[in-house]
Amino acid sequence: MKRFGLDIWGDDNFVIKKDTVNIKFGNEPSILEITNHIREKGYKGPMLLRFPHLIKKQIDTLFCTFKTAKKEFNYQGNFHAVFPLKVNQFPNFATELINVSDKHNYGLEAGSKAELIIAMSYTPLGAPITVNGFKDKEMISLCFIAAKMGHNITITIEGIGELETIIEVNSEMNAKSKKPIVPKIGVRIRLHSSGIGIWAKSGGYSSKFGLTSTELLEAYEMLKEYNLLDSLWMIHFHIGSQMGDIAPLKKALREAGNIYAELKKRGVDSLRAINIGGGLAVEYSQQLQNQERNYSLKEFANDVIYLMQDIAKSKNVPEPDIFTESGRYIAASHSVLVAPVLELFSQEYHEKSLRLKEQNPPLIEELFDLYNSLGRTNAREYLHDALDHMESLLTLFDLGYIDLEDRSNSEILANLIIKRVISLLKDEDTNELKRLQDRIQERYLVNFSVFQSLPDWWGLGQHFPIMPLTKLDIKPTNPASIWDITCDSDGEIGFKPKAPFYLHDIDIEQEEYFLGFFLTGAYQEVLGMKHNLFTHPTEAVVKFDESGEFYIENLIEAQNLMDVLDDLDYDTNIIDKSLKKKLEESKYIGSDEKQDLLGKLYLYLSENSYLKTIQAIETGK
Ligand SMILES: *Cc1c(COP(=O)(O)O)cnc(C)c1O
Repeated sequence: MKRFGLDIWGDDNFVIKKDTVNIKFGNEPSILEITNHIREKGYKGPMLLRFPHLIKKQIDTLFCTFKTAKKEFNYQGNFHAVFPLKVNQFPNFATELINVSDKHNYGLEAGSKAELIIAMSYTPLGAPITVNGFKDKEMISLCFIAAKMGHNITITIEGIGELETIIEVNSEMNAKSKKPIVPKIGVRIRLHSSGIGIWAKSGGYSSKFGLTSTELLEAYEMLKEYNLLDSLWMIHFHIGSQMGDIAPLKKALREAGNIYAELKKRGVDSLRAINIGGGLAVEYSQQLQNQERNYSLKEFANDVIYLMQDIAKSKNVPEPDIFTESGRYIAASHSVLVAPVLELFSQEYHEKSLRLKEQNPPLIEELFDLYNSLGRTNAREYLHDALDHMESLLTLFDLGYIDLEDRSNSEILANLIIKRVISLLKDEDTNELKRLQDRIQERYLVNFSVFQSLPDWWGLGQHFPIMPLTKLDIKPTNPASIWDITCDSDGEIGFKPKAPFYLHDIDIEQEEYFLGFFLTGAYQEVLGMKHNLFTHPTEAVVKFDESGEFYIENLIEAQNLMDVLDDLDYDTNIIDKSLKKKLEESKYIGSDEKQDLLGKLYLYLSENSYLKTIQAIETGK
């Protein structure tokens, strides 16, 4: 697996050149080159690289694919899209998203007051804003304020209570207006069809959101009674994130399409749009057999357009405008987390670490002989013998018959035998081989936090593509598991025999080795948690100038230690004073040393929590 599944998940965004993985854009710099460029300025630890050209690519592809589908079917409704802010609200992402999408009239979706404020500030007037999720009177008032600013804003009603509040706010906020201005109104419908997979709780009868048919009829009557029916223009549903299979979407589209047609027939003339929510899946898999998505964007767009047209025709109503709110599809590919490997944890299993004695216990002598006479034909048999001996030796140790050196020798010999057997049998794709690899996996300690940077791995078992940035001309042979630097045993991406993952054998004291974690741009950042107080990593926006050269913008360093504590509402003055006082009053050191240590202490306080790489320590960088 020299390509690390790049052809499955890479979407042509990266290219392997000689031994590195490079950006397939501009002058095609390697990710390593970009990383080193930033590290040379003194930034160490993990680094999140953002590529706005990949945000643009996703948005352009989305609009272009729907445009083509509309043309193919001669569809009369318009296509619109908004980005759901909950997927990534970070300014270095959101402001680039607005910049790169200006020609599409792309808008934002907000699910909370803070997100609504972002949407109201950054969405260009005229581009759509949709507001979903639970709302109180204040949030609904904010929507009215947005409408009065001139925003093209739609409030989605998630329940009858919200409609009552809209009616109340409308009478208050438009009481003195010459011309009442009301946001557009959408209704979220509770479908009986639901998504599948780990995120499928957003649709279906038991979903948190949406109106039942009975409530929909009630809402219709209330809107009519309070003269707001003219504002009702959108039907909304969202069946869940990362839809691997397209079948549930088709069911949902039929259901929503028929509800739209029923309301049209009831005389809701202003109703013009169906909002199909998000859910477009991203292919995260590095192995063909584990692929997560069974459709293409083209198929998705064609299905949406075809089904809506079909229903509109058969019910004799106009073809609705289509809205999408796909977020994962837009954001996932734009960022790459680069993290240095700090250490390999099974270096001790080298022949040179053996401490054989003049007289060794007989089982160890046997292990040693097995190791020296291993060959292609006896590999399996000798392996089984070795594992057997190993068990016996460990029992002997527990009973006090052999000492720590003997135990160490048996561990080393057994592991060396397993390693050699694996390489002798490497062409056999047997389960036994995978189990062995599981047993001798190499543990790579990586300078990052799974909890901060890949929370969905920790919480949901979501896989993210991982590959080294260098050595891609050499086949990696170490079955690898990845450990983060938190003190939590959950901070590990273990070797899985069903999705085997290999890395290179490297001597970290001689060379740097970086891993790239890909497709981390959706959800991971804001869901990330500060377990052990590891914070959002240093981030940078990578752009390309006209000649194709890359340059770095908006570099934001990971929070320093004092800021982290300040965020937790510690009084950092107290911390500062306490540390200073303890050093100054220490009985153990002289005044020169005190000055020196104070200087060091303040330097450390101004840095972030992540580790400096071993090499950086050695060279004093
Ligand atoms: C979360 C959410 C989305 C985005 O879903 P993706 O799977 O990221 O595309 C869209 N609409 C609503 C209402 C949501 O809650």
